Amino acid sequence: TLSVASTTTRTTCPYCGVGCGVLATPQADGSVAIAGDPDHPANFGRLCSKGSALGETLSLDGRLLYPESDGARVTWDEALERVASTFKRAITEFGPNSVAFYGSGQLLTEDYYVANKLMKGFIGSGNMDTNSRLCMASSVAGHKRAFGSDTVPGNYEDLELADLIVLVGSNLGWCHPVLYQRIVKAKAERPDMRIVLIDPRRTVSADIADLHLPLQSDGDAALFVGLLAHLANAGVTAPGFIADHTSGVDAALLVAEDWTVARVATATGVPEHAIALFYDWFARTEKTVTVYSQGVNQSAAGTDKVNAIVNCHLLTGRIGRPGMGPFSVTGQPNAMGGREVGGLANTLAAHMDFSPDAIDRVGRFWRSDSIATEPGLKAVDLFAAMGRGEIKAIWIMATNPVDSMPEADMVKAALAACPFVVVSDMSARTDTGVTAHVRLPAAGWGEKDGTVTNSERRISRQRPFLALPGEARPDWWIVSEVARRMGFGDAFGYASPADIFAEHSALTGFENDGSRDLDLSGLIEADYASLAPTQWPVRRASRARMFGDGRFFTPDRKARFVPVLPPPPFAPAPGRFIFNTGRVRDHWHTMTRTGKTPRLSAHYAEPFVEIHPADADRLNIARASLVRLSNRHGSVVVRALVTDRQRRGHLFSPMHWTDQFASNGRIDALVTAKVDPFSSQPALKMAEVEAEPV
Ligand code: SF4
Repeated sequence: TLSVASTTTRTTCPYCGVGCGVLATPQADGSVAIAGDPDHPANFGRLCSKGSALGETLSLDGRLLYPESDGARVTWDEALERVASTFKRAITEFGPNSVAFYGSGQLLTEDYYVANKLMKGFIGSGNMDTNSRLCMASSVAGHKRAFGSDTVPGNYEDLELADLIVLVGSNLGWCHPVLYQRIVKAKAERPDMRIVLIDPRRTVSADIADLHLPLQSDGDAALFVGLLAHLANAGVTAPGFIADHTSGVDAALLVAEDWTVARVATATGVPEHAIALFYDWFARTEKTVTVYSQGVNQSAAGTDKVNAIVNCHLLTGRIGRPGMGPFSVTGQPNAMGGREVGGLANTLAAHMDFSPDAIDRVGRFWRSDSIATEPGLKAVDLFAAMGRGEIKAIWIMATNPVDSMPEADMVKAALAACPFVVVSDMSARTDTGVTAHVRLPAAGWGEKDGTVTNSERRISRQRPFLALPGEARPDWWIVSEVARRMGFGDAFGYASPADIFAEHSALTGFENDGSRDLDLSGLIEADYASLAPTQWPVRRASRARMFGDGRFFTPDRKARFVPVLPPPPFAPAPGRFIFNTGRVRDHWHTMTRTGKTPRLSAHYAEPFVEIHPADADRLNIARASLVRLSNRHGSVVVRALVTDRQRRGHLFSPMHWTDQFASNGRIDALVTAKVDPFSSQPALKMAEVEAEPV
């Protein structure tokens, strides 16, 4: 272990789901030196541009430092009393389903656990959802359909052991840069390693790709259904594994059999020879990892796409073994931790759903007789219900739905009309925060203390190295204080995040005979203060690798093939573009942190739209001119970035810019709130818009 200065704190980056270890060392001049943690198994000392600029984002500019009620500073006691009494009144008058919490993958596991426990365990409603609904819900639903549990099978080392890496709907180079750097290094050491990029855009990740398939948006379902048929026809299957460890293969192959290379070419817009080459590489390469992210998840067919990918790995037995498997990489730093505690409205707690057994078990564990008995409203439905006046009080924690939700103007209007809105956040005036009746100052990165789980199921500590500024408090404390004032004090008497983590770990192991994937019982008595990055499962007799024994978490312990029927190609109305949204390299979400550093803003200084040169010519849109994008939901004005990275007929804009930055770039206002039928994840990558010069 590296010895670090006594003033150095080992912590974890608060941005993406790679979950890099960070060394933070406060300096005499008040600044904080940031370095990658050489001992952290996610990054081994590397950091990306965002992580390395963390020290520049720690100023108190724009911080919410004191509780506010109707815009005026109040004491904590007054604020907490108002929140507790207003929620209690709404529950008494309109029932528990008239209130809701909306959380975030930015919350630490301990914060998430306490909020989920209050809503689902004691208020008695399932109405706790999270912005992870926008990020990972389709992977969760796909995992559950295939594995019987929300289990990510992969480990980061698989990316270095693989001979073929297939990146699907993932601009890893910008969105998970340290994983990308690990792959770049592995490929430099083993040039025979192949990389295939499947993405409508020629992103920076194409730089390391041996093959790029620039397919039509949502063409990936057809591509992987065709791959399944190809593998079966070529005899590249694992008959023993299929017979012993899976079910449903015949039904999946029956649906896939008509998907010839020619048909896939028509459905995806990719030439037959390129598809055939990809299929040939996949068929020939035992050690294949398929990495997928928002291009798969943020789709009205997202869950089917996940299962189309997983099916190919099940057919070839390439799962649960080194250097192979389907691998969902998470967007947010703690999307996984949120899923673990039950932060999605369709999950109760500790990866348990609302089955009668789970309700009984969790109710006994929490010693509550008012536990929720059914799933709550998921994000899109939650804000729609609010628009209809059905939600009387909402508490939004560490997220900014006025900018990040689809049909964001509708969400803004719904919040403006909601009788009681609470926002707990470290930022004073986000576009969501300004709608709040009560604003509660939350601790930020560097101040708060807890754990996060990264994309490979590794739990790492976020540790504080700064004093709490003003009257900011950790989210778990704020929620516990409200719970106490609502009359649930006995169940929320936590003295520290260590108490909460121990309780969460105990719940994952409670009456768990190995039939549930999440089991942290080996950490109940761990030394929380010095907890090293730890990958789960962590039961006392741990298995090294998920699914390494060929046993899954379905009732018969077999993985399930899911028949997937690819959706018809998306055809926008004449004169309209397919509108794709995403990220840039140097900003994070709605820029409340990264917007503080000029260095990060130098990469892209303003919102823009990527447009193909032929489309720009046709519409008389000059390079770097202003373009209006519009549809029935609204309009934005952004800068034209004319580039052949973009397919003709497709546009791309990043999602970061907001009214807070006076930029007129709230592009999620243009996205229709269409959702996947299984996951309810919105199709944030497939809106349709008109474009015109301004
Ligand atoms: Fe942070 Fe992700 Fe960059 Fe690592 S790759 S430093 S976790 S933003």
